[in-house]
Amino acid sequence: MNTELRYEGVPAAELHRIRCNNHDDFGNAVVSRTSGGGEPLRCCLTIAGAGEPIALVAHRPMTAGGPYAEVGPVFVHVTDCPSPAADSFPFDYRDRRAVLRPYDVAGQMLDGTVAEPGTSETELKRLFEDPAVDTVQVRNVVAGCWNFTVRRQG
Ligand SMILES: [Zn+2]
Repeated sequence: MNTELRYEGVPAAELHRIRCNNHDDFGNAVVSRTSGGGEPLRCCLTIAGAGEPIALVAHRPMTAGGPYAEVGPVFVHVTDCPSPAADSFPFDYRDRRAVLRPYDVAGQMLDGTVAEPGTSETELKRLFEDPAVDTVQVRNVVAGCWNFTVRRQG
């Protein structure tokens, strides 16, 4: 089975909309703050250093809809930043513990796992060995916030 994977943060069109409108798709104003360092950014899929202008906005990562299509908080850069490389696991996220939450094509949740630091990429490939898995959301362990979505290439 093809296990080449794509890694997707907040879509570029949505980031553009948020930055132009100065509010997110759910009506929350973009309030700029200075990063303390360590905030996971869902625009470029990097971890913020100290002193970067960022904002906490709401995002709905599930595109299939349904009861699991929850809206949650995400940090993004306030201004344009480089798009992440979609074809490789985001480097800054490699050494973080993560919840890996799989969904089927209808958006129903399947059995997930907690990945220890350095194991997320391997665990993702294992989850995608199940043909029922359509996407996997990588999330924070404690807060549960969405970090990025992983799907098969093509
Ligand atoms: Zn960014």
